[in-house]
Amino acid sequence: MDEIKSKSIDELKEELKDMGEAAYRAKQIFEWLHVKLVSDFDDMSNISAALRQKLRENYVMTTLKIVRVQESKIDSTKKFLFETYDGNYIESVWMQYHHGNSVCVSSQIGCRMGCRFCASTLDGLQRSLSPAEILEQIYEITRYTKERVSNVVVMGMGEPMDNYDNVVKFVKLLTCPEGLNISQRSVTVSTCGIVPRMKQFADEGLQVTLALSLHAPNDEKRRELMPIAQSFSVAECLEACDYYFETTGRRVSFEYALVSGVNDNDREAEELSALLKGHNGHVNLIPVNPIKERDFTRSDKSRIFAFQNKLEKNGINVTIRREMGKDIDGACGQLRRRHNEEGPGVQS
Ligand code: SAH
Repeated sequence: MDEIKSKSIDELKEELKDMGEAAYRAKQIFEWLHVKLVSDFDDMSNISAALRQKLRENYVMTTLKIVRVQESKIDSTKKFLFETYDGNYIESVWMQYHHGNSVCVSSQIGCRMGCRFCASTLDGLQRSLSPAEILEQIYEITRYTKERVSNVVVMGMGEPMDNYDNVVKFVKLLTCPEGLNISQRSVTVSTCGIVPRMKQFADEGLQVTLALSLHAPNDEKRRELMPIAQSFSVAECLEACDYYFETTGRRVSFEYALVSGVNDNDREAEELSALLKGHNGHVNLIPVNPIKERDFTRSDKSRIFAFQNKLEKNGINVTIRREMGKDIDGACGQLRRRHNEEGPGVQS
């Protein structure tokens, strides 16, 4: 059965019409789902019992069950572990910044991209998430915190460009005026660099920020860290980023996880500067979160600052990602792994 929360308002209108209902009902129902955030058809108090019954017969109401919440004592970051209807687990993170609350959502259960430093990919891909399941992470967190979310980053588990249609639909639902109406400019979608999908994404007519997980200044090094680099070169990724900028006017963000002794020396900083010169975008340096399955360690503070300095001196826009929730399982996919290993019933 179709998930009602994955429907656009126009789709709902059409389908209600086919059921012999008035089109204006679509707007009311959409508001219950995406603004008032109900999780049961029976909470739609201005919808007749007969229509609620019809909806129940025709649609699934997607929900996620909160299994664990880890709260940081340092900065109030909260990490949520959700259970999906089919018994899988996904993670989302809630972060409070001075400019508003931000949620990092997962787009897939697991991932098949195989990046060497990433915990989400260790067991491969289980399945992609539906638009409703991606939205519901934000909705459930909003119900829990009772605070409005103003920024969304698709940087949790999974590769959004490997779940393209659902992610685009999710972005449209999240940012539509009849829904939560989050500004498109406050949404970031991060990709490991699936070039054809990046170009397609540029043509969607959206104003979201695209982030490219670059992590290396050349193809050879990138191939060591990211299998996707066998399929698409750094030059092709940057060309797609340029196209994204030209088409949308949005500057791309280049993510660079600093791994000690792997991609963090001065020569690599020089090479990265030369590579990015003339491309519209800015570099986000992320001290890598070590995962126990791999022996990567993060660069020490002085190395991170030295790397940043080199880029700055070369005229590259660069920031170091502020670490949030340092005291709770930081890296994507780690909370889920720990939960799967320990089994249910273990609370932190
Ligand atoms: N698949 C997408 C989005 C999810 S990952 C992508 O590759 O962009 C979000 C970001 O976290 C990516 O830049 C990813 O490379 C990075 N990342 C993954 N594991 C990490 C780790 N252990 N430490 C630091 N960053 C990590």
